[in-house]
Amino acid sequence: MDMQAAEPVSLSVRLRHWAGAGRHALAATARLVLDVALPTLCVSCREPVCGQGLCPACWSKLSFIAPPYCTRLGIPFVYDPGPGLLSMEAIAAPPAYSRARAAVRFDDTSRTMVHALKYHDRTDLAPPMGRWMARAGDELLRDADILVPVPLHWKRGWSRRYNQSAALAKIIAAQSGVPMLADALRRIRSTEQQVGLSRSERARNVQGAFAVPTDRRGQIHGRRVILIDDVLTSGATVESCARALLRARAAAVDVLVFARVVDAFKPPI
Ligand SMILES: [Zn+2]
Repeated sequence: MDMQAAEPVSLSVRLRHWAGAGRHALAATARLVLDVALPTLCVSCREPVCGQGLCPACWSKLSFIAPPYCTRLGIPFVYDPGPGLLSMEAIAAPPAYSRARAAVRFDDTSRTMVHALKYHDRTDLAPPMGRWMARAGDELLRDADILVPVPLHWKRGWSRRYNQSAALAKIIAAQSGVPMLADALRRIRSTEQQVGLSRSERARNVQGAFAVPTDRRGQIHGRRVILIDDVLTSGATVESCARALLRARAAAVDVLVFARVVDAFKPPI
């Protein structure tokens, strides 16, 4: 009886699967036709562009970060204080990671790019963003053994299934020759639970949010790692990731992001 009951179910499942595969093929064809027929639009102003995510006018609005900056945090200085000087932030609250670098300042234009990559399937933005990051992180990449993207929150990963940090890391790996280890970090705790916690409770909570899985520890031990993320705001996420990597005996951890928040041009001390 059970066998007889099971057969039609299995057949209908198979038929649905075939129908689904047909739909996917049709959708892929439709996308191809659209890609050929419609030019890519600038993510910022919606003007048609050739191959790149930003039109020349919006590209020129991006605020690229270049020296002089704090050698530790990559925060730009208004004037060149000479080599090796640190920002006030780096001295007041030294992070667990060694150095951070960012391609651009986080502003309206870079925010548009980050959001388009993250939420609107503009995967065509990853190559230029990744190349700019590789250039900004050139000094770090020369010392690095491995690239590790910040993992998605499992809830967000479930709904979106696209890790923008991994997409950027892939481009940087191809650009620099430094290999990426995509699953070296795992989010083991929801960081959303931080709402309502005190400052010290938050730090503790975020610190325990990431871990290196046991079967990846051997690939982290003794390695110089660069953490890859799209945006650096308060730095709590990369700090937490860096601590997890250092607990797994990484030799050093640097941070490379596409955009970072820069409050103002801070004078060096
Ligand atoms: Zn534009």
